[in-house]
Amino acid sequence: MASGTLTAAYIAATILFILSLGGLSHPETARRGNLYGIIGMTIAILATIFSAQVSSYIVLVIMMTVGGAAGMVVASRVQMTEMPELVAILHSFVGLAAVLIGYATFLDHSHHFVGVEKTIHEVEIYLGILIGAVTFTGSVVAFGKLRGKIDGKPMLLPARHLINLGIALACIWLGAVFVGNPSTTSAMWALIFMTLIAFAFGVHMVMAIGGADMPVVVSMLNSYSGWAAAATGFMLSNDLLIVTGALVGSSGAILSYIMCRAMNRNFVSVIAGGFGTAGGTEAVAFEGEAVPISADETADLLREAESIIIVPGYGMAVAHAQNIVSELTTTLRNEGKNVRFAIHPVAGRMPGHMNVLLAEARLPYDIVMEMDEINDDFPSTDVTIVIGANDIVNPSAQEEPNSPIAGMPVLEVWKAKNTIVLKRSMATGYAGVDNPLFFRPNTQMLFGDAKESLDAVFKSLS
Ligand code: NDP
Repeated sequence: MASGTLTAAYIAATILFILSLGGLSHPETARRGNLYGIIGMTIAILATIFSAQVSSYIVLVIMMTVGGAAGMVVASRVQMTEMPELVAILHSFVGLAAVLIGYATFLDHSHHFVGVEKTIHEVEIYLGILIGAVTFTGSVVAFGKLRGKIDGKPMLLPARHLINLGIALACIWLGAVFVGNPSTTSAMWALIFMTLIAFAFGVHMVMAIGGADMPVVVSMLNSYSGWAAAATGFMLSNDLLIVTGALVGSSGAILSYIMCRAMNRNFVSVIAGGFGTAGGTEAVAFEGEAVPISADETADLLREAESIIIVPGYGMAVAHAQNIVSELTTTLRNEGKNVRFAIHPVAGRMPGHMNVLLAEARLPYDIVMEMDEINDDFPSTDVTIVIGANDIVNPSAQEEPNSPIAGMPVLEVWKAKNTIVLKRSMATGYAGVDNPLFFRPNTQMLFGDAKESLDAVFKSLS
């Protein structure tokens, strides 16, 4: 393919990626956004395949077949609730790819850069491997934490800030040794040491983060993976990879900032790493008696209510309850009731998790409210139904300064006249913090799988 055609294809793909991001920012345009992304990626892959950069089609076909088949099998098998883990592990692949490409580029002696160009090339390799290595191990640990294989509690080493500072200084020093070193062996050793340190830093950074702060980490690793891809683009002199990586990197950074604001965390300390306990680490146990309620009694309360707010959480995703939630909402709205949804920014296990499920169940977007839009309306609400949510409705975030989630904004469901919580047991949520909401006088517990409970309520109502 002529280089002019390749450039045109890359520009077209870039524009489609930007349109895709624009589309994905709103539920109504998200499908179109996805389509733009698919077309853009198809153009990008085809243009790269037919470009002069490909030296062996046999290797390319084998690798694309293996990678494509693995991707298809994994994506078709993954449950919606496992999506965040899949995203985390995919980030780790981007990081590992950046590390491997960095080493391959370093060992490739076909380039003969001199002077400033050589220095820039070496800086690209060094930074690419550094960011890639942190992204790789950080994402593997995030995967383990999201999957529950690694304890969600923060691992706080006594001198962790000093360790981080030491790591930063070591990386700068090794970088100075690597760049411009006339001895390939010394440069290689500097690169290997830095890679090992960066691997360790990725593990340390994510291990130090408490459960409730994981959303910020996931979006931050998303951003890191973008920068790793951009660095790879520099190493391979591939403009499209640079632009795409920068798009992912900066949109991930913006998302991290938004998540930080939503969680009341400090963005700068997140970027610097070594954050995650904000208020404290002491979980407080609450004594009291939770009052159970039956499906029929829940239906009676709903029949009498005029205003209803539904708060979905991770449990709704686990139970696959979104469709029955939608049917119930339609029935209640047909009876003239004001039914709205309150979405916490970190509900579920990935940004926008609840919005995706509600959109899939074809709920109208105009009754789906962000936390800030609806939080003041709970006192004037007759019934609030909390479906498989826990941390996002925990009053201790406001009332217990020592709680690990202290300071995190929450949905003030306890202020409604009646609050019904649907869950299977008294177990804690992701952050592992007990919830005094369950013992409030106006709270009643509808125990059981959320879908089964809502089926029963729906039957009783109709
Ligand atoms: P939580 O994890 O706090 O609570 C979910 C609740 O759902 C549990 O208490 C569980 O109780 C209940 N549940 C599970 N399965 C079912 C079921 N089948 N039927 C009914 N209930 C069920 O979820 P929230 O959405 O309230 O909060 C999200 C948490 O996840 C926050 O701590 C957030 O920081 C974290 N997080 C969010 C990410 C994001 O990007 N959104 C990413 C990573 C972490 P029981 O077992 O008793 O049924």
